[in-house]
Amino acid sequence: MLEGLVLTMYADATHLLKNLRNCLLSWGKVSLPNNVVSREGLVSSEVNVDAFVRVIQFQENKELKIAPKLDWKCIRVKGFEKMRVKPAQALLSRDTAAAIRYMVSQGRSPQSDLASAFFAEQVGYWYTLMTGRRELDSFTKNYPDQLQEKLSFLTHFQGLIDNLKFEGPQERKPFQKGILISTSSLLLDVDRFLNQYGYTYFQGARTTTEGCENIFSTARSGNPNPSPRHLRAAFKAISLSQLIRNAKSGNYGDDDHVPFLSALTDAVKHPEEEDGDDTDSFLKSNEVSPAQHDVVIDVFDANCMVYLAGYILRKTINSKKHFCQKCASILVDEHKSLSPPGNDASKALLQLLCIKDFGGLTKPSDLAQELFLTFEGVFRQCQKNISTSDRDLGQQVTGKILLVLHEKYANRNLGCHLSLVVRRFVKIRLFFWGMFINSKVQSNPDHQSLVSGEANSSRSVKRAVVFK
Ligand SMILES: [Zn+2]
Repeated sequence: MLEGLVLTMYADATHLLKNLRNCLLSWGKVSLPNNVVSREGLVSSEVNVDAFVRVIQFQENKELKIAPKLDWKCIRVKGFEKMRVKPAQALLSRDTAAAIRYMVSQGRSPQSDLASAFFAEQVGYWYTLMTGRRELDSFTKNYPDQLQEKLSFLTHFQGLIDNLKFEGPQERKPFQKGILISTSSLLLDVDRFLNQYGYTYFQGARTTTEGCENIFSTARSGNPNPSPRHLRAAFKAISLSQLIRNAKSGNYGDDDHVPFLSALTDAVKHPEEEDGDDTDSFLKSNEVSPAQHDVVIDVFDANCMVYLAGYILRKTINSKKHFCQKCASILVDEHKSLSPPGNDASKALLQLLCIKDFGGLTKPSDLAQELFLTFEGVFRQCQKNISTSDRDLGQQVTGKILLVLHEKYANRNLGCHLSLVVRRFVKIRLFFWGMFINSKVQSNPDHQSLVSGEANSSRSVKRAVVFK
């Protein structure tokens, strides 16, 4: 009866990613196949955990990080931690790969680490395609060139995984079989759906068990052993909650739902949060000497800052949804590139951004780079003078930055969105600071019991805790 019918079978991509990570961590290294090493011009075939450790050690004591999601939790995985998806995703990602490449470019890591960067990037991209929900990550006929590139990537990736070499007994690891099965199934399905069934696009996310796992873990979060009645009530609540924005700290990625009900959340937001002229209120209550903002920022931090600048500018003035011609013409310079290389100082600051760019990142103009470095300078000055227990910390810092800009660029046109850009900068920067302090305090065993409650008290904003 099933004659002629082709069935595809998927091992869940998320579990495969975690298995691969566990294998890499327990063996410490893995060798890439020779044909890949020569094709990519790598100096070494060895993917080594040390390459990741070097990045973690380097950025451990920095507030601004070249790979913000990469930390010791990604390497020291024990017990139930092994089930968490995010550390595995962070370790083997394009972001981590870019950080390793940047370390090599700065002479802080050996050239041989590029093999690890290559591997992290390949696995990261594979995972993105297998679980992709955005148009950019799915297989669509609308962009034939990109479709072809994705399909040939997956074919090459199968070859890579098939020929990985671990030390010790040479049998094939379970994750290798799983990846080969899932990837060939996906290739088959993409071909069927696009070419036989007439679909315009195919999303990898539709082949994972994520949706199913998600709904059950949510349903059971209130009551681990629900009765049918409880389950029905939970499903009703979940259906409604689908229309609200996702919690940022959730373990699963965003899907493509429309958050109809989130207007309700926005309605109760305090009106002062977004609007209000921070400069004026600040001018009335404080004095600051603008000359103070000259703080030395090293080249790594400056690179992080320029990357952050690109991110904030894209969110604020340079995306399809939020575009401001007036500001973009001053603050964005899309044609900036690293080539031809030169002694140009602004190019040195663009390095991290360019390594992380796969198309689509916003490049800040020279003026925008200078502005963000000024923001950071003022912020660091504030860190010395402001107490973290102040309630209006964000407003105070925003006010100081705007005041300094007012003095320094008295007659320059800085665009109409400047104050929003500064507010977003301060919000993110305070978050980094809070994360940094929390990680310092948490790593101190004497303080662990005291701080854990504070650190998890808010889902979206990490509170900075300081012990006197
Ligand atoms: Zn504007």
